[in-house]
Amino acid sequence: MNSIWELETFYRKRNVIIIGAGFTGLWSAISIKEKHPEKSVVIIERNTIPLGASSRNAGFACFGSLTEIIADSQKMGWDKTLQLVKMRFEGLQKIRHYFHTSTIDFELNGGYEIVNNEAPLAHIEVVNEKLKMITGLTHTYSLKQDKIKVFGLGKSSFLIENPCEGSLHSGKLLQKLLEKCHGLNVEFLFGTEVTHVEEATTEVKVYLSADLFIKTDQVIYCTNAFTSKFLEKEQITPARGQILLTEPIEGLKLKGTFHYDEGY
Ligand SMILES: Cc1cc2nc3c(=O)[nH]c(=O)nc-3n(C[C@H](O)[C@H](O)[C@H](O)COP(=O)(O)OP(=O)(O)OC[C@H]3O[C@@H](n4cnc5c(N)ncnc54)[C@H](O)[C@@H]3O)c2cc1C
Repeated sequence: MNSIWELETFYRKRNVIIIGAGFTGLWSAISIKEKHPEKSVVIIERNTIPLGASSRNAGFACFGSLTEIIADSQKMGWDKTLQLVKMRFEGLQKIRHYFHTSTIDFELNGGYEIVNNEAPLAHIEVVNEKLKMITGLTHTYSLKQDKIKVFGLGKSSFLIENPCEGSLHSGKLLQKLLEKCHGLNVEFLFGTEVTHVEEATTEVKVYLSADLFIKTDQVIYCTNAFTSKFLEKEQITPARGQILLTEPIEGLKLKGTFHYDEGY
């Protein structure tokens, strides 16, 4: 049973409830508060820290390797592919606009793709022409055969360089986003799992247990692959992602982020 103090403060009605405190949830809260500072926004996160893909990724700051973009254009057409690439590219610019590169260990060391057959090379000029509007470069992707040796990638046939890509420290970015949210008066309920959501025409009830709920005007699901738990009609199938981390390797020649086979 909750006290009246708790119900009138922590569990009071909000304008917006965001479920999930990963990158999607935090950026959504920032966008809303910047446009509508008067709106009350609370982020509900089931873990004690944001604990999902946002704190467990590789830290690649990338927007698509050559073969990934070719594959996407063949699957969903150029319009949609370019829309997606533009959002990713602008997302990277936004991160660098909001946070000083040194505070999130952002390094613009270039993105590379190892290609072992000639077919994708025939598309470079077309892809560069399409991406010129987005990156402002005439050659977003270029062949860098000399770097195969520099990086010690002896058995690779071709190496494609993209100078707009880099890497960052995802943990530091999450912390900076949290700081930004606090500055904008976004509220948080960490260690709190949303069990279910009841959406009516005028109001939404976000349940934290069988008898405890918070009312809200709008709810935003930022729960990644778990979203199908709430939106049963949406077909979202979680896929396994994995990071393998080595001890520091002495004399490692690789510098940058490296892709292979459509970004995988
Ligand atoms: C192994 C791996 C490597 C990756 N590498 C890269 C990379 O190098 N570069 C890149 O750009 N992208 C990478 N990604 C993708 C990127 O990490 C994700 O797209 C991004 O982090 C998704 O953020 P999100 O906020 O949508 O989801 P998440 O970070 O997963 O956040 C969802 C949050 O919702 C919370 N939650 C879930 N259910 C509930 C509930 N019922 N109640 C309350 N809270 C709930 C979870 O605890 C979690 O904190 C990688 C992903 C993986 C898995």
